[in-house]
Amino acid sequence: MNTVEQNILFWGLGLDDLDAKRIQAAVPGCTLRNWPESALPGDADMNEETPFLIWIPMRVWERQDAAGRAAILEWEPPQKVLLLDPGGEADLEAFIDMGFLTVLRRPLAEAKICDTMRKAGEVHSLYEDIMRMTREIALEREILSRKTDYLLFLNRFMARVSESLNPATIVATARKDLAELLPVSAAQGIFWQEMGKGYMESEIFLAFHEDAAVQEQWIELLLGSARRLSGAKVESYQLTYLMDADAVAQGADLTPRDGRLFLLPLKAGGRSFGCLALLTGEEMRLTRQQRDVLNSAVNHLGLALKNALLYREVKLRADHDGLTRIYNRHYFDERIVEELSRAQRYGQDISLLILDLDHFKAVNDTHGHQAGDTVLKDVGQLLQDTLRSTDFAARYGGEEFCVILPHTGQAQAMLLAERLRAKVQALRFSCEGRDFSVTASIGVSSLSPGGFSRSVDLVREADRALYAAKDQGRNRVCLAGECLAGAGREEAAG
Ligand code: GH3
Ligand code: MG
Ligand code: MG
Repeated sequence: MNTVEQNILFWGLGLDDLDAKRIQAAVPGCTLRNWPESALPGDADMNEETPFLIWIPMRVWERQDAAGRAAILEWEPPQKVLLLDPGGEADLEAFIDMGFLTVLRRPLAEAKICDTMRKAGEVHSLYEDIMRMTREIALEREILSRKTDYLLFLNRFMARVSESLNPATIVATARKDLAELLPVSAAQGIFWQEMGKGYMESEIFLAFHEDAAVQEQWIELLLGSARRLSGAKVESYQLTYLMDADAVAQGADLTPRDGRLFLLPLKAGGRSFGCLALLTGEEMRLTRQQRDVLNSAVNHLGLALKNALLYREVKLRADHDGLTRIYNRHYFDERIVEELSRAQRYGQDISLLILDLDHFKAVNDTHGHQAGDTVLKDVGQLLQDTLRSTDFAARYGGEEFCVILPHTGQAQAMLLAERLRAKVQALRFSCEGRDFSVTASIGVSSLSPGGFSRSVDLVREADRALYAAKDQGRNRVCLAGECLAGAGREEAAG
């Protein structure tokens, strides 16, 4: 009862003076506001002050109409006590059911009042407990709903960044999706790879910045993070622009200092292989939960990116020849079918060159296999350097190379073949003090619009032309159909 004895407020609804005095005497320190029956309080008064108890004489209660009674009963949390006259009757249970704390018979003895106060105190603290629990439940629900939101976000994020196997697309997607969690204004990344002997190669994914100085700041920042996280010198880098529309829009030249910067390591298998730089609003402070969610998201992003980088590497290996680093036969076989059908669909020229080094066996025999390998690498490089980006050079096998020339008729193809032949002849090699050079024979086949051919025919024709070139003395170019009749692989071999 200690909680209810000091500064306690009662309301009386038209109490007579004697009852009012007795209540005040029984509860020292209380304030009793006794409303005259002619001006009883309304909801507005209840909103202004909340009494602990309301004392209501039966005669006042009886004079209320239904609405007046309902209004009194709706006042919560004050408890209501009904005061019966000495000879009056009332159905106690009915009043308790209605919401009264109790019914007392006048005259009000001190013991009755104190007993009522004790009861009211108990009900009051029960009421407080319920209110506290209700608040706690509401809070828990709020926390739970926030957790659900975070889980849904993570689920969505993980699904979205796993949709693509293109690292640039993944970074762009991550930036867009992380913006749901925090106000990301820029997201750029760097990945690095140990190339052996502590040498690191890196790749930077950056939004396009008009201002070269701003771009430089980002590159410096990312290279610095790469050095710190890898513990190695990361000097060289390859730059890929994030070209999605939003990334271009964010290229509004934000520098790394235009906000709060988060540098998040990207890890796979416990090792960091990259770093994501997130720029947010200056005032950004993360709650613990937001930090946890961000970390989970970035952990998954790390895995998705590692996956994409590995996929790219495997694809590169599957399509490329290990020695010369140009495309391999497998890729050529797929590509020639595609290019031929494209040329036929759009009525375009297409040509094919097959280049074979002359007397290459003798190169190996004289200068060794390693020198032979060097020749193959240099010829591969020469093809790469000489051709347009729309042409495809592949190592066909051994010391044979193929070149697909889309949009190229036979006259142009012959010119290019001749240029390649001359360039091969001009290459200079040196092995153990002995200089040497090589030559190549080239067969050319072409298909003009309207012509029907399968890729195998185009290859066979170029092959025949090649063997005609060998037949005619090597170090020369032959066009299919214009070579000596009967010249072909079998005849040449025989
Ligand atoms: P031809 O002018 O008739 O083409 O004579 P060739 O000696 O070039 O032709 P041949 O087919 O007899 O020999 C091809 C040689 O190419 C034999 C093989 O050892 C060599 N060769 C094939 N692949 C490689 C390779 O990866 N590295 C090296 N060093 N040599 C290779
Ligand atoms: Mg050869
Ligand atoms: Mg050969």
